[in-house]
Amino acid sequence: MDIDLARAWAQAMAAAVEVHKDHLTQLDSAIGDADHGVNMHRGFSAVLSALAGLRPDTVGDVLDTTGLTFVSSVGGASGPLYGGAFRAMGAVLDTALADPGRFAVALAAGLASIRKLGAATPGDKTMIDAFAPAVTAFGQQADGGGDFATAALAAADAAEEGMRATVLMRARKGRASYLGARSVGHQDPGATSTALVFRALADTAVAR
Ligand SMILES: [Mg+2]
Repeated sequence: MDIDLARAWAQAMAAAVEVHKDHLTQLDSAIGDADHGVNMHRGFSAVLSALAGLRPDTVGDVLDTTGLTFVSSVGGASGPLYGGAFRAMGAVLDTALADPGRFAVALAAGLASIRKLGAATPGDKTMIDAFAPAVTAFGQQADGGGDFATAALAAADAAEEGMRATVLMRARKGRASYLGARSVGHQDPGATSTALVFRALADTAVAR
């Protein structure tokens, strides 16, 4: 991961959210408050503006600006959760170039931030159910000497598998938990946007 790839990742996330905005809102209207697509779109639009004026020295500068912008522009839970995760990753990546092993450490820091702030755990039917398997898959590839694109592809596949698994889960956190058993049968919107985040990373890494 270098500065150009971090920028390209942010642009790819923004593009993916633009395409899937209505789908995210549709998922959130089933078990939440129907604002996830709008929130994510607002956040990434603001991120693109913020990054356009940034002269980053490190990968961390890009991710920290992404996170700060998310926190300040997005209401609801997704602003602080995603924003905090990007900032936690940025703190690890205070370098112009990060190998897959270091990026794996950054992803783990992002996950830890989400778990702490959301007080959620795998199986609660949240973004963690996509994020955690993605972090594990990336780390396994990095440990095995896989290159960045290979690790990012494994992470994206794992995130999507985790996203699909949320359909059968009963929500234990957030607004969806008020629905109890009626939350079963619906895919979690946060896990769905997390899968977009990791697919954007894979697409970006493969494209270079
Ligand atoms: Mg919502």
